[in-house]
Amino acid sequence: PRAIAILTSGGDSPGMNPAIRGVVRAALHKGIKVYGVTKGYSGLIIGDMTEMNSASVTNIVQRGGTLLKSDRCLAFKDPAVRHQAAMVLKEKDIDALIVIGGDGSLTGAHLLTQENNINVIGLPGTIDNDIYGTDDTIGFDTAVNTALDAIDKIRDTALSHESLFLVEVMGRNSGFIATHVGIACGAEMVVVPEYETKAETICFQLANNRLLGKGASGIIVVAEGQTPGLTTHLANVLAQHQLEAKVCILGHIQRGGSPSGHDRVLASCLGAAAVDYLCAGYNDVMIGVRDSIITDTPLKQVIEKNKKLDDAFFQLALLLHK
Ligand code: ATP
Repeated sequence: PRAIAILTSGGDSPGMNPAIRGVVRAALHKGIKVYGVTKGYSGLIIGDMTEMNSASVTNIVQRGGTLLKSDRCLAFKDPAVRHQAAMVLKEKDIDALIVIGGDGSLTGAHLLTQENNINVIGLPGTIDNDIYGTDDTIGFDTAVNTALDAIDKIRDTALSHESLFLVEVMGRNSGFIATHVGIACGAEMVVVPEYETKAETICFQLANNRLLGKGASGIIVVAEGQTPGLTTHLANVLAQHQLEAKVCILGHIQRGGSPSGHDRVLASCLGAAAVDYLCAGYNDVMIGVRDSIITDTPLKQVIEKNKKLDDAFFQLALLLHK
């Protein structure tokens, strides 16, 4: 390609900035022009973009959020609007687009290339790690560490007051963040959407802990799930079983902050690889990492298939509570 555009879309995630930097620096190195689109698809459809140079991405590798800003643009679900976006790119002689975002953003990218003659490459940018075709997503590691940092602090209060906390972590309808955080913080229980957890099981587990001399305090990590208020509901159910639990919802702090070293390296590698794949003639794929190797997966598969929480991994989380 002679010129490419790059945008970030959907929820921001720590590591989007090093990914943008990877794309820009790798493209410039190959003599390709790069345009940075402001506010995801919202900016694309109105042509809100500026040409980037090496200095445009200086001093951003350590910053959370996204320099290009992000948005949720409902209008992009309309094929006519996607056509308009393609026309904007063609008018500016831009022949490819790199999209960094989650499932929804990658769906938009797939439809854009299917319907219009614009090459697209997707990069998995979400803290949730719920994207098929990659073991890891940009921002996941940082989010896990941010949640851990908070939970370690909550643990001090839980221990001092011998109290029980239900800590809600993000992850939409997937339990990746919750299971990783649960294992790493030594949670007494992990509750995820993929598996049913009965209130009785939690009560039994906590009673057993007391018998084993582990004290009465506890941290239960709960994945947010699709319905808001799930964790408060669980606290109410536990109250009916004479188990008092405080609810702590970590919320958006998990999306922000300086990206971890792991996420910076992952994002940099994937950003540069996106340019390499474009130059090698790839289109309509997401670049991710599987078994520590950078690899491409057709966007169609990424969108249609669900990444499953590994059963053995979840069972390990349960085993470690006991
Ligand atoms: P996160 O995982 O952080 O939520 P996401 O990319 O999945 O990120 P969404 O809000 O689902 O976030 O999607 C982001 C944007 O992608 C939407 O606002 C819209 O512009 C575009 N998009 C989502 N779904 C579609 C679709 N079916 N067709 C076209 N565009 C879509």
